Amino acid sequence: MDTYHFVCGNCNCNIKTQINFKKLKNRIVILGGGESGIGTALLAKQQGLEVFVSDGGIIKENYKADLINNGIAFEENFHTEEKILNATLIMKSPGIPEKNELVKKIRAAGIEIISEIEFAYRYKGDSIIIAITGSNGKTTTTALTYHLCKEAGEDCAMVGNIGFSFAKQIAEDPKKIYVVEVSSFQLDDIKTFKPDVAVITNITADHLDRYEYNVDNYIKSKFRIVENQTEDDVFIYNLDDETTITNLKNYTIRSIKAPITMSKELPEGAYLTNAEMHLKWKGEEMQMNVSDFAIKGKHNQYNSMAASMAGTSIGIRKEKIREALQTFESLEHRMEPVATIRGVEFINDSKATNVNSTWYALETMTKPVILILGGVDKGNDYTAMKELVKEKVKAIVCMGAENRKIHEAFGDIVSLMVNTDNAKDAVQSAFHFAQKGDVVLLSPASASFDLFKNYEDRGIQFKEAVKDL
Ligand code: ADP
Repeated sequence: MDTYHFVCGNCNCNIKTQINFKKLKNRIVILGGGESGIGTALLAKQQGLEVFVSDGGIIKENYKADLINNGIAFEENFHTEEKILNATLIMKSPGIPEKNELVKKIRAAGIEIISEIEFAYRYKGDSIIIAITGSNGKTTTTALTYHLCKEAGEDCAMVGNIGFSFAKQIAEDPKKIYVVEVSSFQLDDIKTFKPDVAVITNITADHLDRYEYNVDNYIKSKFRIVENQTEDDVFIYNLDDETTITNLKNYTIRSIKAPITMSKELPEGAYLTNAEMHLKWKGEEMQMNVSDFAIKGKHNQYNSMAASMAGTSIGIRKEKIREALQTFESLEHRMEPVATIRGVEFINDSKATNVNSTWYALETMTKPVILILGGVDKGNDYTAMKELVKEKVKAIVCMGAENRKIHEAFGDIVSLMVNTDNAKDAVQSAFHFAQKGDVVLLSPASASFDLFKNYEDRGIQFKEAVKDL
């Protein structure tokens, strides 16, 4: 029997609880019955582990069906401690924060906690892993890298944060190459995860609420993507990204560095000069004009360079890379053109959930902008956006439950500002301010949970409101 002492960390009550549970060999408990939880459960079951899924909320019907059909035990709406603290391994879904009381108890009990990508990694065999993280551009770079591999005829899958479980893919349809979108939360609980190719697109403050409002903790999480890499692996990063570069020296990086940049020529890596991308790797060189990239904007040029570099480093031929960059279709909710109504263009960039991504959205704008901004503030500092707002934005439509910080930041720069609390009113107000030749841009720099289910819901409601005009 193992005895643990749990000290309440929530208040100063000094309560010490003695916990007695016997750890059962081969028992994995999965906290959270979402995409990554169910994927882990399926793979664990297939590998012969004793599996139990525990979700503090309701598990979606389709996931529940997966569990029932595979004979996997689960509970929902509560956590039964005695069924959890007897595990030898816990997979914690990325949405569950460290400060959660149950997580604290598990830590106090000394039970190993890992993330889904760590669990999946342990069963990936000799497949190749391209892992992509960063504050912005993860999904686009992941989807583009996958497109590149697919067009080159590779046996590959796109998994991770992008919405498809890595573990489930391994359980049901193993591949030779996995392109994995990895969030910082997933990296927080890795142990041995070692990608053959690691990409950090960029690092700017985000999710600070989960990192004790300390940006260094968040940066440390991102850099964990390289911590297990060896001399045989490749690390792709953005030389123009200040935070990445200033922090690079603080980490031991054993992998081969493959930088991308728009500011100078490189002997090896990807760089862009005079609208021409150069890709140099192991004595080979490829060139391509950015006007031929299917996805537009400076941020997408970085994403295209990172994806091309990833493809090149696993041996995809340059003709294939060129073709794939020309045929990639842009993703929904990311600078997605919606419609042009009476000369006013509407763009849905609902996925812009932090200041940096909205900065890039504004940077690509060539017409006067009516900006729809706001939502859940994750510790936003709007300073970096001020110059661009001054130059390009003629009106701001706030769309959030709480808009005070937006008014404080832009009140003296933008004379037209209005508060709304739903997509319909926001679109109508924006249209009211707009003239022929303007663009209405939904790029909120904030999360969506105050008024919407998620960023997809926000983007869809925006598009519907535009169609109703
Ligand atoms: P993520 O998955 O990291 O959230 P996405 O590819 O979904 O990134 O893009 C989210 C938003 O971030 C886009 O709508 C765009 O405005 C912005 N963005 C995309 N790529 C970059 C980049 N490389 N640098 C900065 N902003 C970017």
